[in-house]
Amino acid sequence: MNFDDTPQEAAFRAEARKWIGANAPKQFEAELSKSSLGRIKLKNDDIVEVAKAWQKKKSDGGWVCLHWPKEYGGRGATPVERVIWQQEEGVYGKLTSPFQIGEGMCGPTVMAYGSEQDKRRYLPKIASGEEIWCQLFSEPAGGSDVAGLRTRAERDGDHWIINGQKIWTSGAHYSDYGILLTRTDPTVPKHKGLTMFFLDMKSPGVEIKPIKQANGASDFNEVYFTDVKIPDAQRLGSVNDGWNVSLTTLMNERMSIGAGVATGFPELFEFCGNLMLEDGLAIDDRNVRSKLANWAVRASGLKYTSMRAISALSKGERPGPENSIGKLVAGSMIQDIAAFAMDLQGAAGVLSGPEDAEAGGKFQAMLLRAPGTRVEGGTDEIMRNIIAERVLGLPGDIRVDKDVPFNKIPTKGR
Ligand SMILES: Cc1cc2nc3c(=O)[nH]c(=O)nc-3n(C[C@H](O)[C@H](O)[C@H](O)COP(=O)(O)OP(=O)(O)OC[C@H]3O[C@@H](n4cnc5c(N)ncnc54)[C@H](O)[C@@H]3O)c2cc1C
Repeated sequence: MNFDDTPQEAAFRAEARKWIGANAPKQFEAELSKSSLGRIKLKNDDIVEVAKAWQKKKSDGGWVCLHWPKEYGGRGATPVERVIWQQEEGVYGKLTSPFQIGEGMCGPTVMAYGSEQDKRRYLPKIASGEEIWCQLFSEPAGGSDVAGLRTRAERDGDHWIINGQKIWTSGAHYSDYGILLTRTDPTVPKHKGLTMFFLDMKSPGVEIKPIKQANGASDFNEVYFTDVKIPDAQRLGSVNDGWNVSLTTLMNERMSIGAGVATGFPELFEFCGNLMLEDGLAIDDRNVRSKLANWAVRASGLKYTSMRAISALSKGERPGPENSIGKLVAGSMIQDIAAFAMDLQGAAGVLSGPEDAEAGGKFQAMLLRAPGTRVEGGTDEIMRNIIAERVLGLPGDIRVDKDVPFNKIPTKGR
């Protein structure tokens, strides 16, 4: 891959830079620069409202969901142009987080399985941020093994009646719609009796309970369904073909998480350049330098692994499962980096408030958020299974319940 811009890409970059320079919400630049994984918020403003305003402005200028077709609210841009946009958007890109699930997972699923009418109704509003979407897959009994889920959908004329519970639903508390994976036939093996829908999150019978996290935030929720009615027209894909539909969502999830995952390295490098230890700057200490060198090598390995995926996309190929490597490596790296930065702070490392702690407490926030990175979108162990089976060609995981009807799998209760 040639990393220099072609003349067309250089022109695209110049246009994007000019537009951002003229339109970005510069009043939030300093605060956004200080934020980090685990702490992206604004002191005096509601970040979702600020994010919505920026998204709408970008949408009016034609700068959202760049790779989507124009008729669905996108720009029809190339994968490389999308990366150029992200590079130019810089700190303001931190405002895209409420829309990532809609753009990265729900939108592509609706695009693949929705009716033309649905695509024209819902996709442009996902792109403009006017409607936020969430992903209702995981349940207490169905996380890594999402096909083990128990939320039931039962047909009732032109509608389906939903009963059950989801968990870890990011952003459900501010979402307008969600894609929902349900069990429609418990008498067949677990992957064969699932059906996908989308639903209005304000539907009667939907109850959302935020989960309080270790860092004090509530980014995700438990969602309960009691006799929730969904029109059959909101089914995505065929009845009992939900597993195949969910693979579209999950493949896009791994792509969107894997492509731009944070490592914490730039923050650590900057921190070590400013931190005074007893005998000088941290960055001049040979032990610190040796750690930094190791992480620098990993960070560039990750950068070029994600470039490989972008290069595959730009040639019209689908990036392979090797993208799982990015998430696996970056997840533990950010955790190690945060722990190291806190060690360097000595006793003061126990302080975590943005006002009291070193570097505005960004490493403390990262440390508390990093375990989530290692779980969301597939745990480390699941990533290792994917790499083992699909990249290295090792024998598959043992799946004893694969061919057993779901209602015959021994369990404590269903
Ligand atoms: C920050 C965050 C945001 C999330 N957002 C969403 C969301 O918006 N929507 C949504 O639907 N879900 C969401 N999730 C849920 C996420 O997808 C699940 O937590 C994840 O898939 C793991 O499932 P689980 O928590 O049930 O763990 P389990 O699957 O119960 O796993 C428990 C442990 O067993 C290990 N394990 C399980 N199976 C295997 C195996 N076959 N081989 C080896 N080890 C195994 C796991 O690695 C883990 O260590 C989110 C999670 C997090 C942390």
